Amino acid sequence: MKQLIISAVLISVALSACTDDCNVSEKEMKGIVITPSDLKNLDWPSIARKNGINTIGLAVNPLYADSFSKSESYLDFLAACHDKGIDIEFQQHAMNEFLPRELFKKDSTMFRMDDNGRRTPDFNCCVHSEKALKIIADNAERFARRLVPTNHRYYFWTDDVGNICKCPKCINYSGSDQALIIENTILEAIRKADPKAMLAHLAYRRTLPAPEKIKPADGIFLEFAPFFRIFDKPMSDTTAIFHANATREISMSHKENMKYLKDNLEVFPAETAVILDYWLDVSLFSDWKKSNMTPIPWNSHVVKEDIRTYRSLGINHITSYGVWIDHEYLEKFPETYNYIKEYGSL
Ligand SMILES: [Zn+2]
Repeated sequence: MKQLIISAVLISVALSACTDDCNVSEKEMKGIVITPSDLKNLDWPSIARKNGINTIGLAVNPLYADSFSKSESYLDFLAACHDKGIDIEFQQHAMNEFLPRELFKKDSTMFRMDDNGRRTPDFNCCVHSEKALKIIADNAERFARRLVPTNHRYYFWTDDVGNICKCPKCINYSGSDQALIIENTILEAIRKADPKAMLAHLAYRRTLPAPEKIKPADGIFLEFAPFFRIFDKPMSDTTAIFHANATREISMSHKENMKYLKDNLEVFPAETAVILDYWLDVSLFSDWKKSNMTPIPWNSHVVKEDIRTYRSLGINHITSYGVWIDHEYLEKFPETYNYIKEYGSL
């Protein structure tokens, strides 16, 4: 019976997804990106609703998209978000999974070439392999049919810390250009599943510089993630510098971050752009070690000023990682509720 009720909700979500909020660029996003495990024993849809957060992004490994889409926890979450008017989207790195690594044995030309001229299946793909792009696009479409964002925004990023292809055909294309070649192909494929689909171009690490050779297809939006930043000074502080450490490998000033953002806004429209910041990212502040869970170094002045800075550039869609804010974390660090509330209100 529960399945039947949830199926009815799913159908109504699908039918109602494009009524008032049809044009995604009109509704300003204030979001949070968490993982499916953060939903365990925690009513995130209610927390979001109560605190002015209107979008929950889930990071779902594509290998588990099918099983997760059928799980009771997801169906309950979907129904609760629908009930509370919260949009759902899915944000994740996906190339390792969309181009299965075991295919390397069959056809290594689908995979990237390293600096030594050798093909390797470690990360990403050769973006000049039509065969690779076709497999990636087909798998993206499959994901898009299973986990459907209610705001039509899709996020299938290239591999984290992933190197790019250096083959003779790809060598003159930057990481951003190579990502865009993949993204333009994926967008075409997912529009078969969702004609209103938009796809993120993530500017982060290797893809921070704006693309130069490839033009984004209509429907590609910028997602800017200032990973190499500090959190006790706002992005507008031109003296602020992040110094590389064991987990974040590049030193970068806030001035450089802002230059990357502004350069990207010369290529992508500001109206559809999304900022993915890290103000509430427990995983980052804990150095991605669960044994090292730490309080969030919340600074309301910084977050307020950052949001003002982003908005001054015409960007109205803002989300933050909130990975590992789960039931246990909130019991241990209950002050986090105040940070969520403040973030939602800014
Ligand atoms: Zn190549």
